[in-house]
Amino acid sequence: MKLITDVKKMQSICNDLRSTKKTIGFVPTMGALHQGHITLIEAARQNNDIVIVSIFVNPIQFGPKEDFAQYPRNLKADLEICERLRVDFVFHPEERDMYPKDFDTFVEVPQFSKKLCGRFRPSHFRGVTTIVVKLFNIIKPSIAYFGQKDYQQALIIQKMVRDLNYDIRIEMLPIVRDSKGLALSSRNQYLSEDEYKASLNLSQSLNQAKDLINNGELDGLKIIEYIITHIKKEPLIKIEYVEVCDPKTLMPIKKIEDEALIAIAARVGRARLIDNILIRR
Ligand code: AMP
Repeated sequence: MKLITDVKKMQSICNDLRSTKKTIGFVPTMGALHQGHITLIEAARQNNDIVIVSIFVNPIQFGPKEDFAQYPRNLKADLEICERLRVDFVFHPEERDMYPKDFDTFVEVPQFSKKLCGRFRPSHFRGVTTIVVKLFNIIKPSIAYFGQKDYQQALIIQKMVRDLNYDIRIEMLPIVRDSKGLALSSRNQYLSEDEYKASLNLSQSLNQAKDLINNGELDGLKIIEYIITHIKKEPLIKIEYVEVCDPKTLMPIKKIEDEALIAIAARVGRARLIDNILIRR
């Protein structure tokens, strides 16, 4: 496994790999790797000749009052995980190389980016799409892997790839949870013991909503109300949103027909947590 920090060098390695017709599986991450990332890397390893993982805490996807400075960074442990998973290259660029002082080009998918998390993090997805485009241009992957935990992000990337004619397949893999059901996230490290216990309420609420739907409740607003009532029993959780929406358009659903995405964002202590469940009938 090779650690590459130089942008031009990474780009030149990838150009050479593509010219030999090797397939490149790419997993973009912000590091502090956990089993959620590992599942993506394993899928990339199984289905490609070459696996590249990027580790870059992308400053432009954080709002001014968000946790960019505190975001967990643990390169040594991350490299050990990548080595064990037989990753070929870890790309870990410097911030000043990715965003030189005069950097001034952004990529936006405005409609999808305004919904759900975008209401609370107005410049977040513009930061995500911009870094992902830059990484795609450097790495030129055959397949890029994203997690359903960040469903909106994966949907936006899929849309961007279609709209900009990138010849890249986007794979979205299911949410990986811990043994108690909490969706794994690098930000879970911020949780105290009590906050952790409170956070379990989020996935429980989603599962109960699913049961409710299976028992015939198809009214989007009633499902939202039910989830909010359930979450509010846990005073450590501050809800940002609970939405029942169309998984293709993210538009709210009044009455669930064939499919729905139920998505939640909430703050628990210092952590902003998101979770979701896809319902298919
Ligand atoms: P991050 O490092 O948080 O930017 O995440 C990098 C990638 O890993 C994104 O595509 C995430 O959706 C994915 N990911 C993060 N947590 C999980 C999880 N619990 N299950 C599945 N994928 C995840």
